[in-house]
Amino acid sequence: MPEFDNKKKLFIKTMLNFWERKKRDFPWRRTKNPYNLLVTEILLRRTTAQHVMKIYHKFFKKYKSFQDILETPESEIAKDLWRLGLSNQRSKQLKKLAEIIVHEHGGKIPTEESEILKLPGVGNYTCAALMCLAFEKPAAMVDSNFVRVVKRYFGGHYKNLDYNHKELWKFARSLVPEGKCKEFNLGLMDFTAIICVPKKPKCTKCNLAALCSYKKSNL
Ligand code: SF4
Repeated sequence: MPEFDNKKKLFIKTMLNFWERKKRDFPWRRTKNPYNLLVTEILLRRTTAQHVMKIYHKFFKKYKSFQDILETPESEIAKDLWRLGLSNQRSKQLKKLAEIIVHEHGGKIPTEESEILKLPGVGNYTCAALMCLAFEKPAAMVDSNFVRVVKRYFGGHYKNLDYNHKELWKFARSLVPEGKCKEFNLGLMDFTAIICVPKKPKCTKCNLAALCSYKKSNL
């Protein structure tokens, strides 16, 4: 299927180029520290990067490890997180994680996918983020944005696959270029935040437009 292969190639190239030219700079994108990355994933849930930016440096200055989180009362952590909303849920989640990581893993986040997935509150997306950004292993960070652009661009069979469908995850994984996991996943994250947005995608500014199924069906 040379046509489909070309389509895949353009998709991958576009995400890598987007990272190269338009990447958004956040402090958590400059670290490979698994502790920072895992905690940041929890902070970023159901809030915006801009909100997390407001507390990021202060939070990590105070809480340098899961040991620090374990030794701090849940209510105090919640107070430090109030600006993000859902602060009680977040602090509870961090305490649970800290307990397991300190007591069962000697304070270190495991590096095996199967072990990471056993951590409380850690699902496929967070696991993939750790594998890719901290441990530099090939993984697709599949979230609703990833699914949206795959469904729109590739269309056809992929358009009808459910978010949790194994085939969708397998296909997503096949898109990750060797040695460029971070660039691809974060490029895609920025591309879907700036170009292929949920409402009114900016197709006229999109490098995928010539081969995009969604664009073709909306001409
Ligand atoms: S052409 Fe439009 S719908 Fe297709 S990937 Fe680009 S922005 Fe998204």
